[in-house]
Amino acid sequence: MAVFGTEFCEEFAVMEFKNGSWSAPELRPLAPLPLHPAAHVLHYASTCFEGFKAYRWADGDARIFRLADHVERMRKSAASLNLPIPDAESLSGAIIELVGRCLESIPEPPGALYLRPTLIGTTPNIGAAASPPDEALLYVLASPVGDYFSGGLKPLTLLATDQLRTVSHLGSTKTGGNYAAALGPTLAAKAEHGVDQVLFCPEGDVQETGAANFLVISEDRILTKPLSSAFLHGVTRASTLTLAIDLGLGVDERDFSLSELLELVENDEAALSGTAACLTPVGTLIVDGVRHAVAGTGEFAVTQRLRNALCDLHAGRRDDTHQWLTRVQRSH
Ligand SMILES: *Cc1c(COP(=O)(O)O)cnc(C)c1O
Repeated sequence: MAVFGTEFCEEFAVMEFKNGSWSAPELRPLAPLPLHPAAHVLHYASTCFEGFKAYRWADGDARIFRLADHVERMRKSAASLNLPIPDAESLSGAIIELVGRCLESIPEPPGALYLRPTLIGTTPNIGAAASPPDEALLYVLASPVGDYFSGGLKPLTLLATDQLRTVSHLGSTKTGGNYAAALGPTLAAKAEHGVDQVLFCPEGDVQETGAANFLVISEDRILTKPLSSAFLHGVTRASTLTLAIDLGLGVDERDFSLSELLELVENDEAALSGTAACLTPVGTLIVDGVRHAVAGTGEFAVTQRLRNALCDLHAGRRDDTHQWLTRVQRSH
């Protein structure tokens, strides 16, 4: 299996917005986009995306995880950037059609088909810095991905910083600019401290890393920040909280500070959540140059339990009691 994100199915789904309306979605052979060099997105970053997975079960059909929630989040991201908002039904339909066409190329779980809807402003006008694009393109890439943890599940090291990940009014928007903003601090932290990721804690408020949410996990509860515009509302985060309740844990959604976090991890586990890596334990936090080991109840037992529950649901080994999966048959 190729490196995550570099292998694609032969087709992609495309919809265009022009003269005030969206075209019907179309499947096309994957090819470079004809894009005007003045396209709004290339100058003014009018873009947002989604990322989620479809799994292939032993019965030969695929199951898309929480399709409606990802489509809804895409619509919210589009609205927050003043991009044309895609119709939920058309977008879901295009994704289902694409998954049906790519079914044969989906590896077995824990491999999956990673889906990447992408919305860009295409109006050719470099004078439109202060106006939203009135033309846009929405396309969906499908990328077969292998086991993210083929090398084993290794606890991560995070550097806590008081830097901002992005601007506060776009914190819950899944947009390329937020990644651009987090890249510099993350590269600097990797070079200076050899860490895996940066945990952004502006004014001591523990938020998230560049691409994953942060959870503090004990034997009887999960602690995480309550939803706000400051951070990305991860579907993995939401799913983990629901599964935690199913497993008899409590959920505590409240703000907490970096100093409280350092006290908590003397006993508790910590983890990152996101579609690509599911739930990954955090083993070390570096704060002001000092390394703090995250204690955890022996080998991150609770994180593993939650992670297994989520992976079992993806692969069909656990009942889909919350109706999170959309079944897709092969289409021709
Ligand atoms: C996508 C993303 C996440 C994780 O969201 P999931 O829906 O769980 O994949 C977390 N933080 C940021 C900044 C993200 O872009």
